[in-house]
Amino acid sequence: MNGPILPGARLGVLGSGQLGRMFAIAARRMGYRVEVFSPDRDSPTGQVADAEVVAPYDDLDAVTAFARRVDALTFEFENVPAATAAAAAEHTRVRPSGHVLHVTQQRAREKSFVAALGLPVTPFALVDDEVALGPALARVGCPAVLKSARFGYDGKGQVAIASLDAAVSAFRALGSQPCVLEQFVDFRLEVSVVAARGEDGSFAHYGVVENRHARHILDVTIAPANVSDAVRRSAVDITRAVLDGLDVVGVLCVEFFLDADDRLLINELAPRPHNSGHFTVDACVTSQFEQQVRATCGLPLGSTRQLAPAVMVNLLGDLWTAGEPDWAALCAFPQVKLHLYGKHEARPGRKMGHATAMAGTPEEALQAATQARTALTAGRFADTR
Ligand code: AMP
Repeated sequence: MNGPILPGARLGVLGSGQLGRMFAIAARRMGYRVEVFSPDRDSPTGQVADAEVVAPYDDLDAVTAFARRVDALTFEFENVPAATAAAAAEHTRVRPSGHVLHVTQQRAREKSFVAALGLPVTPFALVDDEVALGPALARVGCPAVLKSARFGYDGKGQVAIASLDAAVSAFRALGSQPCVLEQFVDFRLEVSVVAARGEDGSFAHYGVVENRHARHILDVTIAPANVSDAVRRSAVDITRAVLDGLDVVGVLCVEFFLDADDRLLINELAPRPHNSGHFTVDACVTSQFEQQVRATCGLPLGSTRQLAPAVMVNLLGDLWTAGEPDWAALCAFPQVKLHLYGKHEARPGRKMGHATAMAGTPEEALQAATQARTALTAGRFADTR
């Protein structure tokens, strides 16, 4: 590398959802110019970027032209085709590298990689065809979860399994594609660690947070999680080993299951800022998105110190069912911060925004965040009764 890329330079982001949007806001605040490569026009990222290039990810001519225009390039989701990342890397600095994408965009590869590092991962078996289902179930045990090897997101592409017959139907329902069969973990908590690694190998993390899901979609993040110091240390050590092992330059999130005996098992990795790190925008000295800017540009990482306990709640499209939510009602909670992503269409399950509450304790923050979210529709339901 030839020194850091400094403010005033042009940063590119592949992918144009809320993660790209918050990256662009952080980068522009620091004085960078931002261009986004987006499959859609007027995207959440495009609305706040200097320029939006609209083309499909597999249009390698467009990707090459885009890469030539920017001084460094990052992405907001890991399912960028390998050929796209490779084409871009010929013309600009791409962080994290195509290798990180390659490992993390396929569940089987990711799990095998993590297991090879000697890190604790949910027991699993690879299933390439129906014949492999029996031996895989014998190894992993029942109940289990069958997941397509290629990543779905938010629980898509996975089916709970209670018997061999169920496994066969599930395999067919998933399109008879390569899958991973995982042991069903009777977890006590789901937790994650968002961390960043710089060009020089420096490491910074945001501690351990608790994630609560509803319908397989992240619903609430509580920061910090209520876990023992030993769990906290162990989760951070494992996370560091993942970032070092993958030689990540950028931000990466490790999602874990924590079982009744306080054992941590890695569920999955996301080589980018993560929904469970959104609280850092309001509650930490340096947000996960600013860390992504810093790491991408080869700048020193910022302090991850958390200024107050925080709780993030997602705002899904379901909140729009009875009309536009009552934003003023949410803003009546002075310690709650509203983030909306500029998406045009509210569909059930679609992440439209989030809100973060800060308070003296995680419990108080949880109360404020959930009350504020409830207030968004409370008037609506009262009206229709
Ligand atoms: P994933 O898309 O793999 O992160 O799965 C989405 C959610 O499904 C997780 O956050 C868990 O709540 C649940 N889940 C996934 N895999 C398992 C498993 N092996 N055991 C128990 N629950 C699981």
